[in-house]
Amino acid sequence: VVRVEGLRKSFGDNEVLRGIDLHIDAGEVVCLVGPSGSGKSTLLRCVNLLEQPTGGRVEVLGVDVTDPDVDIDRVRTHVGMVFQQFNLFTHRTVLENCTMAQRSVLRRPRAQAEEVARANLARVGLADRADAMPGQLSGGQQQRAAIARALSMDPQLMLFDEPTSALDPELVGDVLGVMRDLADAGMTMLVVTHEMAFAREVGDRVVFMDGGVVVEEGPADQVVGAPREARTREFLQRVL
Ligand code: ATP
Ligand code: MG
Repeated sequence: VVRVEGLRKSFGDNEVLRGIDLHIDAGEVVCLVGPSGSGKSTLLRCVNLLEQPTGGRVEVLGVDVTDPDVDIDRVRTHVGMVFQQFNLFTHRTVLENCTMAQRSVLRRPRAQAEEVARANLARVGLADRADAMPGQLSGGQQQRAAIARALSMDPQLMLFDEPTSALDPELVGDVLGVMRDLADAGMTMLVVTHEMAFAREVGDRVVFMDGGVVVEEGPADQVVGAPREARTREFLQRVL
């Protein structure tokens, strides 16, 4: 589903990604961990071309997105993205947030879009909040609404960038629970997270990045439970 080869990204003189190789197969959950500034968000953003790579190759859903002639909007239609900040439209209801892109991008009629949206809101535990405004929801509910919005586009890949790090601790569990359900349902996911318990239990693989390179990757249990590299061990000691 995702194939990254020799990916490089510089901002001016600052080389943030220094040759990243990463693959994600269908149905896999890959958790991306590493210290602040190691390039995790930049890598995620290169996958759907929110950042333009300066080198290497990125293939998403069989399309080389680094090809200058790529129709990136078509690829993005199939890729859901959930950020630390929920980025809901604050002047639209929760339901409208979940129907807008379905109608404008997928050209679904209103009734169908609403049906899909309500099913996904139910899936994230927000069936009864469809008519609320985002500001009336807790942070955890807003993040679950953002997930429902992404799911309403029937994505083939979901990208998460620290979806729980802006939340009060008591709200984190509900959001991780929704993500766990999604993983169990077979969704292909790339998740940047500091939640090591989640990475270990839900992740099929964990990729540890530092300084713009992949330092270590492997089965979640091995990387989190028995890391081979000293840098991985140091990082885990700090966050666990
Ligand atoms: P965090 O855990 O804090 O979110 P991260 O691993 O996601 O960190 P990135 O956000 O990818 O790290 O940033 C990696 C480096 O790239 C940092 O040094 C950052 O300052 C730099 N950087 C990121 N985006 C830009 C940008 N748009 N312009 C210039 N520099 C940037
Ligand atoms: Mg980041």
